[in-house]
Amino acid sequence: MIEVQKLLQGDLRTLARAITLVESQKADHRLEAAKLIDQILPHTGKSLRIGISGSPGVGKSTFIESFGCYLSDLGRKIAVVAIDPSSPVSGGSILGDKTRMEQLSRRENVFIRPSPSQGHLGGVAQSTRESILLCEAAGFDTILVETVGVGQSEITVASMVDFFMVLMLPNSGDELQGIKKGIVELAQAIVINKADGASKTLAELTKGHYEQALQILPESSKAGSKVLLASALEKTGLSEIWSAIEGYYQNAVQNNSFQAKRELQLQKWFKDHFQEGLWELIKTHEKFQKKYQSELQKVISKKSSVSSSVLALLKEFQS
Ligand code: GDP
Repeated sequence: MIEVQKLLQGDLRTLARAITLVESQKADHRLEAAKLIDQILPHTGKSLRIGISGSPGVGKSTFIESFGCYLSDLGRKIAVVAIDPSSPVSGGSILGDKTRMEQLSRRENVFIRPSPSQGHLGGVAQSTRESILLCEAAGFDTILVETVGVGQSEITVASMVDFFMVLMLPNSGDELQGIKKGIVELAQAIVINKADGASKTLAELTKGHYEQALQILPESSKAGSKVLLASALEKTGLSEIWSAIEGYYQNAVQNNSFQAKRELQLQKWFKDHFQEGLWELIKTHEKFQKKYQSELQKVISKKSSVSSSVLALLKEFQS
């Protein structure tokens, strides 16, 4: 049993156990987790949720270490959680190795959670959303959500944070990856990391290329993206990034889009989770399962189209 009072007082061991509970896929744990979240709900929502993405090697861990320390110096309480869809394959999670954030993890008022290593993205996303709520209830006012920059996981993280940033490497400008991959539609900031040493000039050029490319795009297809420079290693550019986040936040609160965005995210979470639950429920239903398998066989053997087989399945529910 998780002691709610201890959690609300910010006890880190209780917080870690609570997160383990929400990560569990066992039915009785799911029930206990849902009750726990109900209890802490009034104490949630007051943090700033910041997503940080980027390809492996771009410097996410180093950046979170530097930026986390910077924010903690400002008096903020930092919690770091992660979504790492690659971990079941690669065998190692992005935050599993705490030594990569050695300074940050040693600080008081900082909580670093290794990424969950199990499960499909939907399940991991669900537990990360609940982990965010638990961290908020434990008094953390800044939640950093890390993910590896691969397709769906970026979209997932962007859908659970207030401010989403993508780290990029300085490059020749031939391939503005973020623009190609549609990241500008998700990200409030593109941060060119490793803007130091011999790469500094290239980083500045890259920044210019991104800014030019952004100018051409229609307003509707960008998330207000700013392009910023940083060196996670030399700890430069951090105050500019924080100013961008604060500016975005203040503006969003003023024009009421902050709560509106959170409400939309909640609607989506509710719908996604319901759809997953529904699927889990019906796939264990024997009669449905038989019909499903037989329709699937018909589709595979080209005796039936996907459309008509799905219609046949849905008819089961209407009768
Ligand atoms: P991650 O895979 O995105 O988490 O990247 P890491 O934080 O593990 O960094 C990958 C490598 O890039 C490490 O060798 C870091 O020391 C290095 N690195 C990270 N940030 C910077 C930076 O700002 N400048 C330079 N020069 N190297 C960096």
